[in-house]
Amino acid sequence: MYTSALTRDAGEHDAPGAALVEGRALTKSYDPAHPERLALRGVDLAVKPGEMVAIMGPSGCGKSTLLHLLGGLDVPTDGAVILGGRRLDTLSETKRALVRRRDVGYVFQFFNLIANLSVADNVELPQLLVGRSPAHARARREELLGRLGLAGYGSRAPAELSGGEQQRVALARALANEPAVLLADEPTGNLDSAASGEVVALLEECHAGGQTVVLVTHDPGVGAAAGRLLRMADGRIVSEER
Ligand code: ADP
Repeated sequence: MYTSALTRDAGEHDAPGAALVEGRALTKSYDPAHPERLALRGVDLAVKPGEMVAIMGPSGCGKSTLLHLLGGLDVPTDGAVILGGRRLDTLSETKRALVRRRDVGYVFQFFNLIANLSVADNVELPQLLVGRSPAHARARREELLGRLGLAGYGSRAPAELSGGEQQRVALARALANEPAVLLADEPTGNLDSAASGEVVALLEECHAGGQTVVLVTHDPGVGAAAGRLLRMADGRIVSEER
């Protein structure tokens, strides 16, 4: 039986205006031999349900690191990550992996589809991994591929698709389990402008449908699609525009 880690705890975090995803005083050092070399130097960020937030900043300023921490792909050196009212960073690796599967959708610059699985299987797999029935997984896959302009692509291999099509499959996969938050790391970074425009339009559509989205981008056009734009430099958030 599929139960979201967030809905399981419903009630604990339903105060009005409460953040859905929160980073508090986040620091991150990757090198224990040089703990002073910080990829993040005290980042505070609160994303409300239904918000679309873009993070911009020069290469190496910590954007991907921040996204990884918010999605539970990695843990901070110090500070706290709270998703749906629950501490994420203090969970065991196994529990964090469960929350990631159920409550976080992740889209990467280089798509990261499983090359030897069909498009259909790429979108069904995350659902099977959280215990959804094969029939449910198939129906949800059909719905998503239709919505993302990929009806009829199910039996293809990822390598047979264009970059834009692969990123749309990656988006379908990320949305498969109705994640509480969709995180996208340079989702258009490997696409030409036409494909990039399509992916941004789809992200905006998800947001318009109530999906909470946090994305990292170099592209000011993509940043402009978000309701809130945070700029980072040298491991910190340095400005915010709405
Ligand atoms: P951005 O996404 O803004 O380009 P990153 O978060 O990828 O920045 O990187 C921030 C800093 O952390 C950089 O100095 C980068 O070299 C370093 N870094 C990122 N990931 C790792 C890692 N896995 N191991 C060691 N250093 C890393």
